[in-house]
Amino acid sequence: GERVLLDPHWGCGGCPYCLDGETTRCLRGHMLGELDPGGLAEYVRAPATQAIAIPPHYPFDLAGCLPVAWGTAWRMVVTHAGVTPGDVVVVTAAAGGVGLGAVQLARLQGARVVALASSDEKLVRLKTLGADETINYVTDPDWDVTVRRLTGKRGADVVIETVGASTWERSIRALGKGGRLVTSGATSGPIGPTDIRYLFRREHRIIGSNGWTHTELLRLAAHAFAGRVTPVVDRVLPLERTVEGEVALADRSVFGKVVITPDAA
Ligand SMILES: [Zn+2]
Repeated sequence: GERVLLDPHWGCGGCPYCLDGETTRCLRGHMLGELDPGGLAEYVRAPATQAIAIPPHYPFDLAGCLPVAWGTAWRMVVTHAGVTPGDVVVVTAAAGGVGLGAVQLARLQGARVVALASSDEKLVRLKTLGADETINYVTDPDWDVTVRRLTGKRGADVVIETVGASTWERSIRALGKGGRLVTSGATSGPIGPTDIRYLFRREHRIIGSNGWTHTELLRLAAHAFAGRVTPVVDRVLPLERTVEGEVALADRSVFGKVVITPDAA
């Protein structure tokens, strides 16, 4: 039949949030491979409305990258941060799955993008993907000061946060007046100090983001199919070599997505 990608998340359709179209807040939501069986399999069962047609020229490998990390990045950058042309957007874990999406989407919105990563090698690649400025947060631990210097002391309009504990305090310090911090993860730990004085004096907003809606994914897919943003694939592995991919992810030796396919060589 038709080539499609699956949106792995959907709502119950009946709770007050779903009735308002806010499926990310659903009280009885579905997520293939997480809350429901599916993923890393040859067959999966899902409502037909979850299928999004892939144009003939677009490869499965790239389409498979779109839903989770890119859907999350879209909701953070476009829906919650409301990035507009000229905004300075800092992406804390820019070489991660969500980060690679956030860098490209912020650039697509016309922002000036400051990308943070742990190695110069990753930063070089981030420049080719649309980062205007890069900061190695290992060799430059006072990176919030660097953000202020790069912006003529003004600070960032938006910080895209997925790291949590180890970056939280500096992410807030890096924000300029009226800045928005959008968070969707806490990979280094869930507790981060917040100097409340910055929040009210600089009129900051801290915004949580969780997943994506089907409409957001459709909009993202349209941009991807038109070539305006492109997922980064680190490697493609057959289903029986899934463990190899998991180990590579745990070792942080990947840049971009590990794609698992039922029929790769
Ligand atoms: Zn619901």
